[in-house]
Amino acid sequence: MNLKASETKAYIKAALKDKTLRQAVDKATQTALQKRAVQVEAEPAWEELRHKAHAIKCEVLEHLDAYLELFEKQAIANGMQVHWASDAAEAQRIVQVIVEENDVRSVVKSKSLTSEEIHLNKFLSEQNVETLETDLGEYIVQLLDQIPSHLTAPALHLSRQDIGKIFQQKLGVDYTEEPTELLAIARAKLREKFLAADMGISGVNFGIAASGCLVILENEANARLAIGLPRTHVALMGIEKLIPSFQELPVFLKLLAPSATGQKQTVYVNVVGTPLQKIAGEGPEQLHIILLDNGRSKILADPQLRETLCCIRCGACLNVCPIYQQVGGHAYGWVYMGPIGATLIPQYLGEREGRYAPFLSSLCGACHQICPVRINIPHHLLKLRKRVVDSGNSSRLEKLAFRLWAFLARHPKLYRTVTWFPGKLQLLSRKPFPVPAYCKERALGTFDVKGFRKRFIEMEEINSRKVAEAQRMRKE
Ligand code: SF4
Repeated sequence: MNLKASETKAYIKAALKDKTLRQAVDKATQTALQKRAVQVEAEPAWEELRHKAHAIKCEVLEHLDAYLELFEKQAIANGMQVHWASDAAEAQRIVQVIVEENDVRSVVKSKSLTSEEIHLNKFLSEQNVETLETDLGEYIVQLLDQIPSHLTAPALHLSRQDIGKIFQQKLGVDYTEEPTELLAIARAKLREKFLAADMGISGVNFGIAASGCLVILENEANARLAIGLPRTHVALMGIEKLIPSFQELPVFLKLLAPSATGQKQTVYVNVVGTPLQKIAGEGPEQLHIILLDNGRSKILADPQLRETLCCIRCGACLNVCPIYQQVGGHAYGWVYMGPIGATLIPQYLGEREGRYAPFLSSLCGACHQICPVRINIPHHLLKLRKRVVDSGNSSRLEKLAFRLWAFLARHPKLYRTVTWFPGKLQLLSRKPFPVPAYCKERALGTFDVKGFRKRFIEMEEINSRKVAEAQRMRKE
């Protein structure tokens, strides 16, 4: 799903009216935040770890060319086949060649946002390759033909009752809303696919530059099966996912799981260094790694916004965001959502297509405070808002409002007259002005009858008196 800027408003309105969605998102985000708080409390070095993670990621980005070359050299030495993709189309072509060379008919996938970014499932089904998501949340959204609504919890917008109905309709099983029964249904369906698949596709959480290894984190063991059973494994990795060596990995492992799901650790930490067949006599004979650029070099070249590439996709900024909590991830219209998505959308899709995204934020700063790699998201959102305005892509109504404001600000008498009215009118009605849409969820305060100018002058006088008094006291 790629919403156009003009469609986002309608989608958000619909999401706000969807009580089930709002309850499901609220429950899931609040639970994740509570569990995270417990883990953070138990880790005395939490802040130190955040600083370290930020420094490591920034250092890698600063020398990304050298780290990528080192990674490639080591990965090839380990027996991997390394491919470079400058954009989504090139990445798709690389996968197509691998599919054709190996006569691949079916694929099992473990969770990979990068593959969503390049629309890989759609591409593969157009090539008549059966492609199945095996992460439970991804499997559910695939049944609905949706994209994930959260970076780490793809089906977070659905209740277990919703999932029961989806399984009933799409899989032809009896309705149940019992989590263990739902899990058993999905497990039975997926097991046979794992055993029959010709190829496994995964994302990558961290690429280890010094060793040419891949680190793939998961909780359900589906990734382990997807990358360990079929004869070919294709891993898709954004070029920003590197860290220097295994030495730095514990810093990220300690931060990622608590931030993502409130767990102390991810259940499985898969480290892949070579095609398994070589060392175990079974599993994949080929291991391909596709290093995807798709706009990342452009972001890297921008010193003001480069920091947005530090993201480790934990999803904590989504959970804490008051906007995301109301509308969920689909309202952002792209694979990356929430506060970090709001920074990435205009950078990947362009200022015209992604012009709506930096404004989907209250700029409260909670995302910066919670981010395990300390990305200053509000700061970047402001920069991106300015770029949208500078490039002439802000809304016509907004342009008109600011032109009017600028005109009034240049004509003080007119400004005083215009701002005098609301307070006086309100004195007559003795009630706040009726603004129906705004007042649905909150109360509108009354206008200050004194007005800002008068209050400002009074404050100035009070401050001057205080300064004079302090000076007099010092002299005495
Ligand atoms: S920006 Fe920070 S908090 Fe948000 S997903 Fe990325 S790493 Fe997590």
